Amino acid sequence: KAKSQGRGCYRVFDGTMHDDAHRRFQLENELRLAIENNQFVLNYQPIIELADGSVIGFEALLRWHHPEHGIISPAEFIPIAEDTGLIIPIGLWVLDQAVKQLNEWQKKGLITHGFRMSVNLSVKQFTQPYLIEEIDRILVKNNFQSCYLKLEITETAIVENPEAARQLLQQLTHRNIHLSLDDFGTGYSSLSYLHRFPVNTLKIDRSFITCIGTPNENLQIVDAIITLAHQLQISVVAEGIETAEQLAKLRSLGCDQGQGYYFSKPVESIIAENLLKQRILC
Ligand code: C2E
Ligand code: MG
Ligand code: MG
Ligand code: MG
Repeated sequence: KAKSQGRGCYRVFDGTMHDDAHRRFQLENELRLAIENNQFVLNYQPIIELADGSVIGFEALLRWHHPEHGIISPAEFIPIAEDTGLIIPIGLWVLDQAVKQLNEWQKKGLITHGFRMSVNLSVKQFTQPYLIEEIDRILVKNNFQSCYLKLEITETAIVENPEAARQLLQQLTHRNIHLSLDDFGTGYSSLSYLHRFPVNTLKIDRSFITCIGTPNENLQIVDAIITLAHQLQISVVAEGIETAEQLAKLRSLGCDQGQGYYFSKPVESIIAENLLKQRILC
C-alpha cells in the first residue's frame, strides 16, 4: 500500500481507476483476437438525399460484439485500436467487409448510379505510407468499382498532415473515390484550406444539428457552412438529424444530404437491405 503522506500519489490505485485500467488492459488484449474470433460486425446508416428523400449511400459503422461485455461502442475501442496500432488491420477489415456488402447488394440490383458506401478512416490509417496500395489491393480482390466508395476523415487529419493529405487526395481523385470531411466545425474549423484540398463533401457535426429547434440554435453558422461549401462545389451532409423540424430547416437552407435517427439508426445488413428496397425514407 502506498504511503499516506504521499499527498494523493496512491490515488492512482483507488478502486475505480484500477477497474478502468483493468478493463482497458483486458479490452486491449481481446481486441487483438477480435477479427479472427469474428466479433466485429458492420452496421449501416443510410444517408438521404434531402431533395427527394432517397437513400444515396450508407455509412459503415463498426460494432464489437464482446462475449462478456456485449456490444462495445467504437467510441471506446477505436482509441484503444489507434494506440496499439490494431486500427490498421481493423480498418482494412472494415473496408473489405463494406466493399463485399456493397457488391452483394449490387448483384441484387439494389444499387443505383451515384450511390456510395462511406467508410471511416482514422488519422492513424491516413498517415500509413501504404494506405493507397492496401485500398487498391482490397478493391482489386473484390473486383469493386471505386466510384462507389467514399472515405471519411476528420479535418484534424488534413490540418495536421497537409502533405499526406494532398498526396492521398490526388490518388483518391485519380480513382474517383470521394472524400468527406467528418465532424466538420468541431476541430480547427480552418475554412481557408478547403479550397486547396478537393474534398467532395462536408459533414456538419451533429452538435450543430442537435441544437436546431432549441434556444441554442445557430442557423447562421450552418447557413454559412452550406453557402461556403457550395461556392467551392462541395456538397453538405448534416449529421444527427433527429426531428422533422431539423430536417425542414436544413432543407430550407439548401443542405444536400442528411443522416440521423429521424431516418434510421445504424442497422445490421439485413435491415439496411430493406431500407434500400424501400428507396425513399422521407
Ligand atoms: P462518426 O463517423 O461521426 O459517425 C457518426 C456517429 O453518430 C455514429 O456513432 C452514429 O451512430 C451516430 N449518429 C448518427 N445519427 C445520429 C443521431 O441522429 N443521433 C445520435 N445521438 N447519434 C447519431 P457510432 O456508430 O457510435 O460511431 C462513433 C464514431 O466511431 C464514429 O463517428 C467514428 O468516428 C468512429 N467509428 C465508427 N466506425 C468506425 C470504423 O470503422 N473506423 C474508424 N476509424 N472509426 C469508426
Ligand atoms: Mg463518419
Ligand atoms: Mg461524423
Ligand atoms: Mg461524429
